[in-house]
Amino acid sequence: MNDCLFCKIVEKEIPAKIVYEDERVVAFRDINPQAPTHILIIPRKHIPTTMDIGEVDKELVGQMHLIAAGLAREEGLEDRGFRLVLNCNKDAGQEVFHLHLHLLGGRRFSWPPG
Ligand code: 5GP
Ligand code: ZN
Repeated sequence: MNDCLFCKIVEKEIPAKIVYEDERVVAFRDINPQAPTHILIIPRKHIPTTMDIGEVDKELVGQMHLIAAGLAREEGLEDRGFRLVLNCNKDAGQEVFHLHLHLLGGRRFSWPPG
């Protein structure tokens, strides 16, 4: 997917503050952070939205959550808490169509979300 911004970050064609990477997942700091900690956890594989997650991706999506928990611990958010967000399509305000899990922490969040 040549046109995808996050594929370009995976390929290191665009710089990002990468905080974690392995053979299947990359995590980097959001360019426009909405909280003191704002990290995006993405699969290397181009999956546009939650609706495109397939049976074969079940382990990958689980791994993304485990990595989010590990990063939350590293950021000192384990006890105070944090929020994981996965926006899908228009009503949720998805802007980048390459699956990404937001890890947000370091401040209080309201509920219901805006
Ligand atoms: P979405 O609204 O699609 O769930 O979130 C997209 C996120 O990607 C936004 O929080 C936005 O700030 C972030 N973002 C967009 N472009 C870039 C970029 O070039 N680099 C990084 N690190 N984050 C980006
Ligand atoms: Zn992509």
